[in-house]
Amino acid sequence: MDTIIHKQYLQLTEQDREPHVDHGSFEDFIRKVLDYNPNADVPLIKKAFWFAHNSHEGQKRHSGEPYFTHPYGVADIMTHVKADSATICAALLHDCVEDCCTKLEDLRKEFGDEIAELVDGLTKIEGKFSTKEDYSAENVRKILIATAKDIRVMIIKLADRLHNMRTLGHLPADRQKRIAEETLNIYAPIAQKLGMREVKGELEDLSLKVLDHEAYMALRNTIAEKRQEREQRTREFIAAIKDALQKRGIEPKVEGRAKYFYSIYQKMKKQSKSFNEIYDLFAIRIIVNTVPECYTALGIIHELWRPVPGRFKDYISLPKANGYQSLHTSVMGTHGKIIEIQIRTQEMHDLAEEGIAAHWRYKGTERDKRFDRKMSWLKQILEWKATSSTAKEFVETLKVDLFENEIVVFTPKGDPISLPEGSTPVDFAYAVHTNLGNQASKALVNGKIVPLDATLKSGDIITIHTQNNAVPSRNWLSFVKTSKAKSKIKSALNIHISDAHHDFVALAPAALLDKIEVLGKHAPLKFSKCCNPAYKDQIIAFFTKDKKITVHKKDCPNLSTLEDNRAADVRWKEDRGSIEIKMKVVVKDRVGLLAELLTLLSQSRVNVKSINTRTKKDRINITFSLQPLGNVNYTTIVNQIRGIRDVIDVKW
Ligand code: MN
Repeated sequence: MDTIIHKQYLQLTEQDREPHVDHGSFEDFIRKVLDYNPNADVPLIKKAFWFAHNSHEGQKRHSGEPYFTHPYGVADIMTHVKADSATICAALLHDCVEDCCTKLEDLRKEFGDEIAELVDGLTKIEGKFSTKEDYSAENVRKILIATAKDIRVMIIKLADRLHNMRTLGHLPADRQKRIAEETLNIYAPIAQKLGMREVKGELEDLSLKVLDHEAYMALRNTIAEKRQEREQRTREFIAAIKDALQKRGIEPKVEGRAKYFYSIYQKMKKQSKSFNEIYDLFAIRIIVNTVPECYTALGIIHELWRPVPGRFKDYISLPKANGYQSLHTSVMGTHGKIIEIQIRTQEMHDLAEEGIAAHWRYKGTERDKRFDRKMSWLKQILEWKATSSTAKEFVETLKVDLFENEIVVFTPKGDPISLPEGSTPVDFAYAVHTNLGNQASKALVNGKIVPLDATLKSGDIITIHTQNNAVPSRNWLSFVKTSKAKSKIKSALNIHISDAHHDFVALAPAALLDKIEVLGKHAPLKFSKCCNPAYKDQIIAFFTKDKKITVHKKDCPNLSTLEDNRAADVRWKEDRGSIEIKMKVVVKDRVGLLAELLTLLSQSRVNVKSINTRTKKDRINITFSLQPLGNVNYTTIVNQIRGIRDVIDVKW
């Protein structure tokens, strides 16, 4: 190993060794990489290092520091999670396209597809958005879709966010608050999902510092005050555990576990308890060599101290969905204080602390695609992408799913299925297969018939009976928990979601559906998203397997994949004077804006039949009655209107 490092070092130049580069020389940096990965691609990393350094030349951060300190800091965090060479390069280059004039194509030429794709996934989208929330929602959606293809995108993003949170102090207060909120709502839960406990803990603490500064400082001070007393008690307890286990031939590592401020803060809020009640729960972690030793250690501890009922959890035989394994228990300690205990092996420990990042080490330095697949929530992301109409809705759905606690239930064959707490047999059925959900008629939990809206518990074994012609009941929407079940039920019932916030539906507008006649058959109808037919296009329709009708353009390239015997007869209704639709545009008052809107509409071959305006404070609601003068794609028009300056929202 030494010789490899030696050879690698010979390739360094004077410049590489120069210590003046912002936070450290290239030599300092590459030493950290080679420490955990002696086979790292040093020439490539070196090229990325200097490319990023030179691209950001002259740029400054808000703090006044050279900009390169940021990509350097992000890449440095990536060395802590022992990232592979491509990921290190992408971390160094991650802001080159967004913040410098570097083109993605140049990166592709210099560094190849793999690194260019990673950087692209991390680059914010360009374009105009009516609100900051829309803009950040679009960016979250973009990065999640890129993550679903390559999980390394999210690992770099989390490091990027962590570095930004650490250096947030120089931004204006409102921006700090917005970034901290997004971190707490989106990125910390994602870090949790990826099993990156340390990153999650630090992100949450840094967010708390911004969002509730007083509480954060109070916690910090109280913890500092109580430190001595607590450390004394922890030391005594650790010694007692070590002694007991060693007598039975187990050599454990026992440590007091630091609790993150935010987790204490949350417990205090949730249980409305005082700091003393919460913080007196101190926490111990025991690391042993083998799984059988975990259970032996548990038995010994329960002999010595009385276990608190209901607190034992076996995440070794029933791992959490993110792969986390440990035994958890709480016992009543000698001082009358409750002590939380985790017992695990070293491998389980590393996976728990670093999550997917530790996985690189256990399965070799290159990432393991099988592990990506274990992240079932990532698969869902691609599905939400298909079913949620706006970025905001996508992010709202995401938040719900990220925040729920998980349970693990089983199919009759013993395959584990993870679901959010409060899930029902219908959620289970949809999680297994869409058709199982659509045709579910009866559910058995552990062999007993239960109602379809029963609440499932971890460890339940669930059998679903189906009926061939069954269709989902609208009522299911009132109790299902998962976004997957909701969206599948809605699409089976062909309901287009619409509410006050985002009733802009990417599918066919109701006005167009009214204009289609399905000859001789009755079935839910929708327009295919692949070719997005507009009024008066040449169309053809097909029955889908779940007995819906999908309308395609006659020249849709996907037609060849559809079977002829599934074709359905559809046609546009005779033109009874084109159908009028109403479109509501919310704008800020600006001279010339109405003229811009009218020009756009007439260029889009839409006749404006009437205009109504209502003024609300500094906003104006304009309602247009529109009549198409030919083939009109309203989706395009709405997008164009959204791109006009001072347009806040468009609904139709
Ligand atoms: Mn960045």
